[in-house]
Amino acid sequence: MTDCIFCKIIAGAIPSKMVYQDEHVYAFRDIHPKAKVHVLVVPRKHIATLADATDDDQTLLGYMALSLPKIAQAEGLTTGFRTVLNTGHGGGQEVFHMHYHLLGGGPMPFTV
Ligand code: AMP
Ligand code: ZN
Repeated sequence: MTDCIFCKIIAGAIPSKMVYQDEHVYAFRDIHPKAKVHVLVVPRKHIATLADATDDDQTLLGYMALSLPKIAQAEGLTTGFRTVLNTGHGGGQEVFHMHYHLLGGGPMPFTV
């Protein structure tokens, strides 16, 4: 078993509050939510950061992006949502299995 915490969550070795899953994507609630809805959307395939993705991941990355509005809809985020994808230490990434933060359902925790 890999040391990656999100791989362990996907495998069920660490508990999570799953909100959506299919053959490519696993989505679960962030343990420290920054908004009323705060879901992490991760590929089942271990990719450490977006910068580590390759041309082979093109379809997977598109698939992930297209899963976001579907998950947002299922979470009741009818007026919109925010996505954040931190990449590398310089981007504030703490868990090195790439993931989208999907946030919504109230005031956003920051502005860009
Ligand atoms: P990032 O800084 O973009 O790497 O985000 C990592 C996110 O993972 C943070 O928002 C953490 O709260 C969240 N997190 C860490 N461990 C867990 C866990 N076991 N279950 C759910 N979320 C987690
Ligand atoms: Zn992983």
